[in-house]
Amino acid sequence: MNQVKIAWYGIHQGEEPPLIPAGGIFFSGCDMHCVFCQNYQISQHGLGNFYSNEELADIMIKLQNDGAANIDLVTPTTWHKQIKQAILSAKEKGLKIPIVWNGNGYEDLEIIKSMADLVDIYLPDFKYGKNELALKYSGAKNYFETATKVIKEMLRQVGYLKIVNGKAARGLIVRHLVLPNCLENSFEALKRLAEIDIDIHISLMNQYLPTRQVNNFPELKEKVSQKDFQKIYDYLLGIGFHNGWTQGENSQENLTPDFTKSEPFG
Ligand code: SF4
Repeated sequence: MNQVKIAWYGIHQGEEPPLIPAGGIFFSGCDMHCVFCQNYQISQHGLGNFYSNEELADIMIKLQNDGAANIDLVTPTTWHKQIKQAILSAKEKGLKIPIVWNGNGYEDLEIIKSMADLVDIYLPDFKYGKNELALKYSGAKNYFETATKVIKEMLRQVGYLKIVNGKAARGLIVRHLVLPNCLENSFEALKRLAEIDIDIHISLMNQYLPTRQVNNFPELKEKVSQKDFQKIYDYLLGIGFHNGWTQGENSQENLTPDFTKSEPFG
């Protein structure tokens, strides 16, 4: 198949500071099924339109011409073969800005190995320290073992984050979304990440917002309390992480997209 399904592309400001303005390309589909997914319209409901590999390459060039600091491939894994062809083609057409693999981290190790030399920046999630929660909320088996191997491979390929003139040029950033009433899960996830490498950049995310999909999970039907978020942030610093970012108290209101609109991020 020489096509990919894309829900939206454009200049996107909703990433970590050295990644913006990102040239966001939001792909349709995801191999996790998180009940709390804020992008469920595209990850689980299949919203999007088909584009050929060459059209994808042209989108990358357009984003570069529009001033993007990078090509931010959001939930790309389903389409990895086509994306590879598109990156190669876009490079022939003059693409110079870094490629960001903004995936969920629970990925096929062989796919990630196959992206070496094409991806400059990896931006995976590390959602769970407890496998039972990964199964319960995302239908993901062996989460911790899988994501750990993938993140180690990403780090091996691109190393620590390098920022040049205020923009991310290469490296790894790992995101952890704090879930409500899941303090122990966050502690465990951060502890496990520290065992991989304490010098990696961590993005501690405070943008959880309950969606209708969490109705069967009462513990997820509320926002993360600021008190709990602070405890997790303190824990992160306490175990020695010293690179990265965290989000402010009002992050929940601003970041839930609506992909049925031409400007999903408002
Ligand atoms: S991994 Fe991310 S995009 Fe995929 S279902 Fe979970 S929250 Fe949504």
